Amino acid sequence: MIRKDIIDRFRVPAGAKIRIKDHNPGWSQTEEMEELGKDALKERARQTLDQNLADLSHAQEMLYADDRFAVLIVLQAMDAAGKDGTIKHVMSGVNPQGCQVFSFKKPSAEELDHTFLWRYMKCLPERGRIGIFNRSYYEDVLVVKVHPELLTAQHLSPVKFGSKFWSQRYKDINAFERHLVRNGTVVLKFFLNVSKEEQKRRFLERLDRPEKHWKFSTSDLAERGHWDQYMRAYSECLSATSTKWAPWYVVPADHKWITRAIVADVVTTTIQSLDLKYPEVTEEKKEQLAEARRQLTAE
Ligand code: ATP
Ligand code: MG
Repeated sequence: MIRKDIIDRFRVPAGAKIRIKDHNPGWSQTEEMEELGKDALKERARQTLDQNLADLSHAQEMLYADDRFAVLIVLQAMDAAGKDGTIKHVMSGVNPQGCQVFSFKKPSAEELDHTFLWRYMKCLPERGRIGIFNRSYYEDVLVVKVHPELLTAQHLSPVKFGSKFWSQRYKDINAFERHLVRNGTVVLKFFLNVSKEEQKRRFLERLDRPEKHWKFSTSDLAERGHWDQYMRAYSECLSATSTKWAPWYVVPADHKWITRAIVADVVTTTIQSLDLKYPEVTEEKKEQLAEARRQLTAE
């Protein structure tokens, strides 16, 4: 496990006004890490991830047996920050029946005819399961805020999209998450914080390697052109929607090994803290089990 005080550094305190640019996307997060050095830290991160994967597998089985809680993991990031790889690695040890991943793209005409939360509500995890949102309702205060013309398609009236409109959306999101948490869904939100330089490096790598060409879309470059607006939108969004009941974590994402170790650690420790129990076996059930044993041994 990663020490709690280190994990706490990545959590956005409820009510805090943060700026993404004050968060370091690299590996060296503390003096201690700096002294340890990159290679040693990488080895430690690998061990932490391995341990967490084993623990997460067990924690997920307990979550399923206990059947009182669901876990919703929200992943948001700029392109090429490593959302897909994080999901693949962190969930690699989990029983596929206990986990659901939903990737949200541009909304369809039908989805646009409903309120912005509708399509996400339909995909929420049921009790006992971990649900992952690869992009989420947060797109509706991020990409949509950077490109307000997208709102035209949402047929909203009255058509006034000032700061009040966005603060109302943040409030709706906070209320929505509060409802989920009150009803047994644990909500964990991760912003994978990749730097603009590292994104460029990863894009160039995609262009250099034919087997990665499919991953590159020209719209990725267009969105990169809005980098500063996105950072502003993320800063405002995380400041307004990191709550006690559904906190945001700003996870350094310039090195994939550190991202995966941190996400796996937060998910595992959170599930382990739920005090999960196997359902109690009633006296009647115990008698049925004893009877089953008698019948089988008498065969
Ligand atoms: P990858 O590029 O790794 O395959 P991705 O999540 O970037 O994964 P894409 O198909 O490239 O997937 O992009 C999905 C696009 O859909 C993003 O540009 C995102 O901003 C956009 N999108 C998601 N939700 C909404 C929304 N509610 N309104 C408008 N656009 C949205
Ligand atoms: Mg993309």
